[in-house]
Amino acid sequence: NINIADTLKHLHIDGINEACSTGSNWASSANAEVRAITSPVDGKIIAQVKMATAADYDKVVQQAQKAFINWRTLPAPKRGDIVRQIGDALRQNKQHLGTLVSYEMGKSLQEGLGEVQEMIDICDFAVGLSRQLHGLTMHSERPLHRMYEQYHPLGVVGIISAFNFPVAVWSWNAMLAWVCGDVCIWKPSEKTPLTAIACQHIAQAVCTANGVEEGVSCLLIGDSKIGELMANDSRLPLISATGSTRMGKAVGAAVGARLGRSLLELGGNNAIIITENADLDMALIGAVFGAVGTAGQRCTTTRRLIIHDSVYEAFKQKLVKAYAQIRIGNPLDENNHMGPLIDQEAVNSYLAAIDACKAVGGNFVVEGGRLQGEAYASGCYVRPCIAEVENHYKIVQHETFAPILYLMRYKTLEEAIALQNGVPQGLSSAIMTNNLREAETFLSVAGSDCGIANVNIGTSGAEIGGAFGGEKETGGGRESGSDAWKVYMRRQTNTINYSTSLPLAQGIKFDL
Ligand code: NAD
Repeated sequence: NINIADTLKHLHIDGINEACSTGSNWASSANAEVRAITSPVDGKIIAQVKMATAADYDKVVQQAQKAFINWRTLPAPKRGDIVRQIGDALRQNKQHLGTLVSYEMGKSLQEGLGEVQEMIDICDFAVGLSRQLHGLTMHSERPLHRMYEQYHPLGVVGIISAFNFPVAVWSWNAMLAWVCGDVCIWKPSEKTPLTAIACQHIAQAVCTANGVEEGVSCLLIGDSKIGELMANDSRLPLISATGSTRMGKAVGAAVGARLGRSLLELGGNNAIIITENADLDMALIGAVFGAVGTAGQRCTTTRRLIIHDSVYEAFKQKLVKAYAQIRIGNPLDENNHMGPLIDQEAVNSYLAAIDACKAVGGNFVVEGGRLQGEAYASGCYVRPCIAEVENHYKIVQHETFAPILYLMRYKTLEEAIALQNGVPQGLSSAIMTNNLREAETFLSVAGSDCGIANVNIGTSGAEIGGAFGGEKETGGGRESGSDAWKVYMRRQTNTINYSTSLPLAQGIKFDL
């Protein structure tokens, strides 16, 4: 019973949408390319967008630089109050925005609403943070001297985001960056620009009501070409980029070449170790939700299960039974567990991964494939599948962004941890066990090498209060909670001499 036309109208999505916004001003170049945005849910065109050009890009950066000069002087708690109001505006728009996330990206309505809730939560977190952007004071070795550190805003922060969390990733970055005194330029995924346009309208209404200058919240609709301009632009001291490891290597190299700062949130290859001491019913829920939720298109999706020999067969049977009950279809229908993949290209890489897995000896205990029929007219719906594999297979070492779950068995915990760590990525990991020694070993220095390590919780999903991110090819960045805010600021150490002489550090004498 969801009326998409109503949702689009409510969120100010037009038939053809402009390429860039510095706040209230929306514009495009006369020669802008126009692209149609199609829903993976039903294959229909939702709306069209114009693509930003290099000239548009430059204008946006100039306006953002201008806005930074004033925004940085607004006291942080006042900036926090604006973020609080953005959180309230998101609360009011939750149903419509969640619906558009689901329709444009293909995740279930519940997950779409959950994503908007995550945005609301990070606003709340950022409001509190706006009164806690503090550094330390240190004791000086020199008499009548004071030494302390403070955090200042960085400037224009570039945010490049992926299609699978089309709005939450922006909020994780922007809400923190804003309370820190930075201004933001967001380039969303070219696959999901409409939800971004909706967010820009929501944030801008609050900015306008508060007299916030044009340029604090900027949006650029574009593909990797705009992303490359951002990565190479020394006017942007920080680039926060979320997406594939391939993208992260390109962005990291470009930002590194100009000695800028990058925050990289890249692919995962997440595993759950299921020990002989696991509660298998609990493990089943964690594994199945982790593997099929968002149709396997979360960076924290469970891709591998490392199962103890003694419970392997029993757990495999449970999984096969559970997979038979998964309902696939329109994600806006709450009866369905799993919606479509983002596009046909994603379906093709899913099918290619299945072929590659079979070619090296992978044994499919639940078969995959593309779903046909009227309910699947977009051509983006697939079956979640399960294969018994060996960890060293090239395809298992690679993140395929689709619902393919790999099973492998182990005998000792050391072996299980080696398998868990034996991939290039290092985002999320989990162990299912009621045994304290196993749990603590997994969390110890000799345990998981990932940025996220859970006990008796799956790999998928995270709370905003913790720092989010991973190691190795996942890029090393951390965003959201804990002290992740520090990356959006520059640290300054200050020493103040209130004596009548000038003693030098390390006791050095310099008499004139
Ligand atoms: P993608 O790499 O294709 O695109 C991500 C973004 O990067 C898009 O906005 C794209 O336009 C831009 N981009 C691509 N190439 C670029 C380049 N050379 N320079 C600058 N920008 C460039 O990824 P995707 O398919 O949208 O998203 C899926 C991937 O994102 C998966 O690998 C997933 O694991 C990862 N992801 C990671 C996290 C995390 O927090 N670690 C979160 C969500 C998604």
